[in-house]
Amino acid sequence: MAHAFNNALEQLATAAHYTEIHQAVLARLQKPERVIQHSLPIVMDDGTTQVFDAYRVQYNNARGPFKGGVRFHQNVDLNEVKALSFWMAIKTAVVNIPLGGGKGGVVVDPKQLSRAELERVSRAYARAFAPYIGPMQDVPAPDVNTNAQVMAWMMDEYEQVVGHSAPGVVTGKPLELGGSEGRGAATAQGGFYVLQELLQHVGKQANNTSVAIQGFGNAGMHMAQLLETAGYRIAAVSDSGGGVAAADNASLVVADVIQHKNKTGSVVAAPSTTDISSEELLELPVDVLVPAALENQITDTNADRIKASIILELANGPTTPQADVVLHKKGVIVVPDVLANAGGVTVSYFEWVQNQHGYYWSEAEVLDRLLPIMVDAFSDVWNITKTDGVNMRTAAFVLAVSRLEAAMQSRG
Ligand code: NAD
Repeated sequence: MAHAFNNALEQLATAAHYTEIHQAVLARLQKPERVIQHSLPIVMDDGTTQVFDAYRVQYNNARGPFKGGVRFHQNVDLNEVKALSFWMAIKTAVVNIPLGGGKGGVVVDPKQLSRAELERVSRAYARAFAPYIGPMQDVPAPDVNTNAQVMAWMMDEYEQVVGHSAPGVVTGKPLELGGSEGRGAATAQGGFYVLQELLQHVGKQANNTSVAIQGFGNAGMHMAQLLETAGYRIAAVSDSGGGVAAADNASLVVADVIQHKNKTGSVVAAPSTTDISSEELLELPVDVLVPAALENQITDTNADRIKASIILELANGPTTPQADVVLHKKGVIVVPDVLANAGGVTVSYFEWVQNQHGYYWSEAEVLDRLLPIMVDAFSDVWNITKTDGVNMRTAAFVLAVSRLEAAMQSRG
């Protein structure tokens, strides 16, 4: 994780090479606007107190309020949160929604917490950062190991601090508290729309396309369901416990894998599958590889062994810049995180809009509005790959930086 922010800056530098960015804009984009750190003292169920490090990084708000998830993970560090907040600023610009970029995290392994302890950590986070977040200031959302319930606790705590209703302070909430229809599957749905567009451009069809998915949480599991329904062959999936593969030319039955994971806590040993490691999954002979877990999974040590011709990055930062170079040389198309997983923040934006108006849309309306945003973002990025002769990541950065620059220049 130590290099995540360096990787992000390297991606920015590569984009700066292909587009003229005003020196002042580039200098500002190399640093977050604000970094806030808190210690969260939590009384544990056994009566002892543990203190957890918590962060919120507000990277850029030239285009709108800071926006980005909160991660609960034992490996969270400031460097990682900075990188994730930077990618959020790029992502909101790629899909052209009026929000900026931010991110948060708590250094904690939530698997070691009881539900009551998890609630206390979530509430402590919202209370500590309440002066800095808000519907018009900075809007957190779920990320790794945080979910709708965590958002509900955070919203409730924030409202107690400010003394009024403020559903738009977080997104990814449960429906009964002002969440949006379609938010749960939104990240996967957006990635799915982008993949469908890409397949058309490269002349492939779903029913001839095999997929391996690393990570079987919110992003990965929904993606497996969407792809299975559309006729793709799901060759393998994995989670932090390990992976499972279908027999040659067969497809996993996603509902069975979900049922097994719900029962046992992992996909490992799901019925009618063969166990593989998460690293082996990355190197399977499939058409599409979907990293949907954590950063730095595809690096210069394994990039040359990747056999997929398309990598769809549902996770943030799964591919290092060194691996990008190797993959580009091999002709692998990497659909970058800032485009592939932007469906999540786009439906978060819809949720925020609905909260401001107190008027709610059906799931069909949400999907109708998501589709053109993802299709436009894909074609904007794809066109830049053609005109500038760059890979999709650099094209997405060129597009985003030009939009950020326009906003920053207009502000003077
Ligand atoms: P999640 O906590 O719901 O799921 C994470 C999954 O990754 C789990 O199945 C976990 O077991 C698995 N995992 C962890 N380490 C692994 C490893 N070494 N090998 C294989 N699997 C491993 O989190 P999520 O919300 O699905 O997020 C996954 C990724 O997608 C993250 O990079 C996140 O930043 C990104 N993302 C999520 C959203 C969203 O809306 N949830 C939006 C944009 C980006």
